[in-house]
Amino acid sequence: DFLAARLLSEKDEGLLALVSAVTIQLGSLIQRKLADEALQNALHELEQRSFEIRTLSEMSDNLQVCNIAEEAYTAVAQSIRLLFPTGALLVCSTSRNLLKAVTVWGKVPLEEPMSLDDCYALRLGRPHAVMDVQTGLRCHHLGEGADPYLCVPFMGQGETLGVLYLSAGPPGAWGDKNQIEAKRRLAVDASERIGLALANLKLRDTLRNLSIRDALTGLFNRRYLEESLEREIYRAGRKGTPLGVVMLDIDHFKQFNDTFGHEAGDAILHEIGVFLQRHVRSSDIACRYGGEEFTLIMPETSLEVACQRAELLREAVKHVQVQHVQRSLGSIAFSFGVGVFPDHGSTAETLLRAADTALYQAKAEGRNRVCVACL
Ligand code: GH3
Ligand code: MG
Ligand code: MG
Repeated sequence: DFLAARLLSEKDEGLLALVSAVTIQLGSLIQRKLADEALQNALHELEQRSFEIRTLSEMSDNLQVCNIAEEAYTAVAQSIRLLFPTGALLVCSTSRNLLKAVTVWGKVPLEEPMSLDDCYALRLGRPHAVMDVQTGLRCHHLGEGADPYLCVPFMGQGETLGVLYLSAGPPGAWGDKNQIEAKRRLAVDASERIGLALANLKLRDTLRNLSIRDALTGLFNRRYLEESLEREIYRAGRKGTPLGVVMLDIDHFKQFNDTFGHEAGDAILHEIGVFLQRHVRSSDIACRYGGEEFTLIMPETSLEVACQRAELLREAVKHVQVQHVQRSLGSIAFSFGVGVFPDHGSTAETLLRAADTALYQAKAEGRNRVCVACL
């Protein structure tokens, strides 16, 4: 404009025309450059969105083939870290009011142990973003030195299952307000997929438990017993280790029913389920064989040790006190039959039969005792 004013004042119209032509050219060049840049940015944005969608959909596919929660946690971390390089999956244990970090990627300053109350996103029931850790309401599950972050709760089957914690890196790393909002939307999408997958796994687990567990005692049922005994015999045979099988039956159980009623009898069976579960090793398999008869499968256990364990149970059950409608139901006694693979049977059927015959011998000899199967 300055040049034009001078040129106009000097009345050099030819030069003025030249300058305006150059200016127009320059303007259109700048416009094209700006348009190019905008196009590049839009393209980059589009590529980023498509990468995010692909990553989340891959995560959902991977989650579908997971059989147990631990596999799912790994699948989540592997995908989410491509979108958010630092974060953690925190899972609620409502019964114990605990928040547990089941998978962590990157360096996360978590303050463990964490309770459900420690997370503001959980308290609010919606995403909680703290982009300024000095002034924002920082969750108590994060220690000093935490970067700006976002916590997103995830739900499944109407239940809050946990929180997706995502670090935003150093202050400002997530960009302006719009970019932060885009990150929040992405995190919410991810957390919805995680919630759905984890709830499905939980449901599958419940259904499986229903099919292999006895409802009254919480022990494994007979179908599961037969299945796992076959498997354990096969394993023991391959490893050349013994396998103990103990059959036990409550003595004079009918009298409990007759004296206190069927419901009281059920209460005893329930308590015996809890008792057996508490007294067997984690590698043992405790089952309700039927009625008031139970079976214990003890991998890598010799006849001598299986008998010792049966004796311990026989002693311990004397101290079990069951109350029903504020009445004590008296003391409980067991009779036991013990057999061991391969000495007393090489198949599930023969081994169970041998232990059962020994149990009947224990009954015949006066009950409340341990008998060993015949060779
Ligand atoms: P023994 O010492 O010879 O084993 O005597 P017992 O009375 O324990 O054995 P018996 O076989 O005569 O009776 C078993 C009783 O267990 C009869 C049956 O009603 C009861 N029973 C089986 N299943 C259940 C159950 O689920 N709940 C209740 N309450 N009772 C059950
Ligand atoms: Mg009985
Ligand atoms: Mg019986």
